[in-house]
Amino acid sequence: MSALPLAGRPSTEVLDDLTARKELDIKWREGRAFSLAYFAGQDVASLAEEAYRRFSGDNGLNPAAFPSLRALNSDVVDVVKGWVGGSPAAAGFLTSGGTESLLMAVKAARDRLFVERGVTKPNVVLPTSAHAAFEKAAHYFGLENRRVAVTDDWRADTAEMANAIDDNTVLLVGSAPQYPQGVIDDIPTIAALARQRGINCHVDACMGGVILSFLKRLGQDIPPWDLSVPGVSSVSIDLHKFGYTAKGASVMIYANKDLRSYQSFITDNWLGGTYGSSGVLGTKSAGPLAAAWAVMQYLGDEGYLRLAKLARNATLELAQGVKNNLDLKLRAEPESTLFSFGASNPAELNIFAVADELWHRGWYVDRQSPPDSLHCTVNAVHFDKVKSFIGDLNESVKIVKSKSATGESGSYGSVE
Ligand SMILES: *Cc1c(COP(=O)(O)O)cnc(C)c1O
Repeated sequence: MSALPLAGRPSTEVLDDLTARKELDIKWREGRAFSLAYFAGQDVASLAEEAYRRFSGDNGLNPAAFPSLRALNSDVVDVVKGWVGGSPAAAGFLTSGGTESLLMAVKAARDRLFVERGVTKPNVVLPTSAHAAFEKAAHYFGLENRRVAVTDDWRADTAEMANAIDDNTVLLVGSAPQYPQGVIDDIPTIAALARQRGINCHVDACMGGVILSFLKRLGQDIPPWDLSVPGVSSVSIDLHKFGYTAKGASVMIYANKDLRSYQSFITDNWLGGTYGSSGVLGTKSAGPLAAAWAVMQYLGDEGYLRLAKLARNATLELAQGVKNNLDLKLRAEPESTLFSFGASNPAELNIFAVADELWHRGWYVDRQSPPDSLHCTVNAVHFDKVKSFIGDLNESVKIVKSKSATGESGSYGSVE
């Protein structure tokens, strides 16, 4: 059959076909993926899907035609402001995901320091643990990334960051938590460096932005990381991760509207009149916004607190399971809901072959390096999966060791 049929096909047949094509996909709704997808129950997912469906064709490019979108947007931004310690002056925009948020954080810093000081060869100082999307941003927008090694506990080396700063530095970055090992950078020190020099400090809380405030309320000791820290100019928060909403929703919150103004773009240099947009996209489906709003209203504060507890408990149990296996080495104690681990003796155990064995048993984990490691992002869906995962992990380690099997490093994203 060619890709476009000559005569259209019945909708039920088309949908059945789509469902059949998903057969080999990872079963993330059953808690089989420790990456890429998040699930807080079928009720939450169904609500997100229905809200998305009702708004999927509405266009967030210009709320002048859709007053509903302006209202939904400000509701969502207001809630997130509360989660990240924003003052009443804080101001945000919804974006399509963590990557767009980080692209905008970099662009906003570049444009601010060009306007304020005429910086034309801007650089960003950031730890090696900061997300790959910062490389994309530097590449797209013509900045130099000065990556600084992390310390033994995988946190940003703030002394080395201070050394790397010069007059062309426009942005310092810290993460809460960083993705690879799941630890929270020393945000107060990084933010103070930025404040002294009058430059931007972005906290990448794509992973932690929703959940850290709830973990703190559950009694966990969380170091300061958000907009309440003097010097932090912006924070990114992914709703399509621990907000448990549909894909395509992240929020950028700036300390104030002036800092936020450098994110927007406006032109009248064409025949179509004034054109403005808050982020990378032009036309954008209102589906992700409606789904985010609906899920927040449905879960409420209590719902997010309950889900945070489930995810955190599962994280601690899984990390303990890894520690109990002497062939494995936990990279760092998880400070929120992610962790990574490798082989205690890489000469004896190929950790990527362990990932292959886990995949044969229906589990998906991220592969990362350096150092060669497996990575788990744990969410509420995993609350009752700990025993079966650890059982399969131990079994996989045993098999790989006995066969001296080797595996491929794989990648977190793809260019296909
Ligand atoms: C997921 C993530 C990103 C990138 O977000 P996308 O939604 O995948 O574009 C950036 N930083 C951190 C810490 C993340 O966890």
